[in-house]
Amino acid sequence: MSRHYAVFGHPVSHSLSPRIHAAFGKQAGIAIEYSAIDVEPSGFDAALQDFAARGGAGANVTLPLKEAAYALCSDTTERARRAGAVNTLIRNGDAWHGDNTDGVGLVRDLTERQGLDLRARRTLLLGAGGAARGVAPALLDAGIGDLFIVNRTPARADALADMLGQPGRVHVRYLDDLRNLGEFDLVLNATTAARDGGSFPTLPRSLLGRRSAAVSLSYGEAAIPFLAWARAQGAHESIDGLGMLVEQAAESFARWHGTRPDTDRIYGELRAESARLVTAD
Ligand code: NAP
Repeated sequence: MSRHYAVFGHPVSHSLSPRIHAAFGKQAGIAIEYSAIDVEPSGFDAALQDFAARGGAGANVTLPLKEAAYALCSDTTERARRAGAVNTLIRNGDAWHGDNTDGVGLVRDLTERQGLDLRARRTLLLGAGGAARGVAPALLDAGIGDLFIVNRTPARADALADMLGQPGRVHVRYLDDLRNLGEFDLVLNATTAARDGGSFPTLPRSLLGRRSAAVSLSYGEAAIPFLAWARAQGAHESIDGLGMLVEQAAESFARWHGTRPDTDRIYGELRAESARLVTAD
């Protein structure tokens, strides 16, 4: 019998999660039904109840619902608590257990697939939304050096730094300060700037050097402006969020089904398609 899973978001029709989980299920020999459910924040609670009534056993949650998902869970993992955001829901009787697999997904992609040694890297995190909250604790746990957080709305960067709770290591700066911060070993773009055709904020050249890695949590066209800028500055690596997407999905799959799928094959397929998309442009 198929088990029901879904990704909730708004918008969500672009999501690759149904395809990734179908591939994982096939590989593991587990019959799963995984759909995409588009719902605005105001309707999320009711949509999730309806999903549970129809036999929903687990769900992923994406933009802009991760903080709402955290709020409705009866209990959460430590990493979800540290993020204040949930991207993976696991049905537990009449309640939902919440986890956040974004951080482990990013770190696994960067260290295991891309071969980056994150230890002691002076790091700049652009953004302080749900994704930034998910990845910041995992980056600290992976051993990065000082973490600078810069966000368009400074209060959200302050809240993230407070949540991380490592005042000597985590620093908040304003966008206008970027030109005075010097060079970083790792610069991550966790913003939605440049999505939907918007423009990406102008960043100073001084942020990146020849040994720096630039990482966009976005993938596809949304990742292009930031990564093109990074390559133009001579960054050593420019990495999009496709590997993170596949790895966070694998971690969710492991939470639901108790088995970790191999991610190389579906990653290779999606990467080849993404390269064709960029070349076609
Ligand atoms: P979010 O919670 O809506 O946060 C958006 C962030 O972008 C906020 O920090 C926001 O700043 C900033 N921002 C938006 N427009 C901006 C602009 N024009 N200039 C500067 N900053 C701007 O979104 P999210 O969930 O964190 O997602 C962020 C990105 O990560 C998305 O592109 C998402 O697709 C990607 N992501 C990828 C994965 C993956 O598996 N690869 C997983 C999660 C997320 P304010 O606070 O000032 O509004």
